[in-house]
Amino acid sequence: MYLILLGPPGVGKGTQGVLLADATGWQRVVTGDLLRTAKDEGTPLGLQAEQYMTAGNLVPDQLIIKMVEEKLAALPDGTGVIFDGFPRTEAQASAFNVMLDSLSRTIDAVVVLDAGDQVLTDRIAGRRSCRSCGSVYNTVLAPPKREGVCDNDGTPLFHRADDQADTVRNRLDVYHRETEPLIAYYEGSEAAVHRVPSEGAPDEVQGKVREVLGVGE
Ligand code: ADP
Repeated sequence: MYLILLGPPGVGKGTQGVLLADATGWQRVVTGDLLRTAKDEGTPLGLQAEQYMTAGNLVPDQLIIKMVEEKLAALPDGTGVIFDGFPRTEAQASAFNVMLDSLSRTIDAVVVLDAGDQVLTDRIAGRRSCRSCGSVYNTVLAPPKREGVCDNDGTPLFHRADDQADTVRNRLDVYHRETEPLIAYYEGSEAAVHRVPSEGAPDEVQGKVREVLGVGE
């Protein structure tokens, strides 16, 4: 299974991706996490990406495409993959098609998570993330059991630099302009596109995601 999780910042792609990966054994390829790791490690890619990310702008397509290609090449053949944060532009989607052809794979499904901008802004304001396992919390809406620490592995949680209010507005604008058109793009392709309203609690949304995909209980 190759599955794309599509949706605006803060809609819960990370949360839903972790839950779905736990249930299915599929791997997550999360471009935002890959970029943040590259930045923390100070690699050339990380250094190039940093300025774009901090401003809430998209990192140039070429860098992203190369990064995803390398990540996929490192996975065993036949691995199921949940793509989160990629593709994010039509240029990335076209390059992804070329990549998939060369791997003899196709996109099986696209799950579009959606919520209104106000819900997204509220969620992002309190978001805290785990660098180690990718789990996402919210100080008000979904706090960890122990303040500031990941329930899964005890790693201290961090507040993303691009989760500050002024940057969030730009990320939402960029989403509506660059990424939202991909919904129509995939609706015109052979992939099954499922829209899942995502303003509810994480477990409720996960139930709907599994239902549309026909996996898990
Ligand atoms: P969110 O979806 O919540 O905005 P991500 O963690 O997916 O957050 O991405 C954070 C930032 O990383 C983006 O604002 C962008 O700068 C960069 N980024 C991640 N994925 C891509 C991508 N596919 N193309 C371009 N930039 C990306």
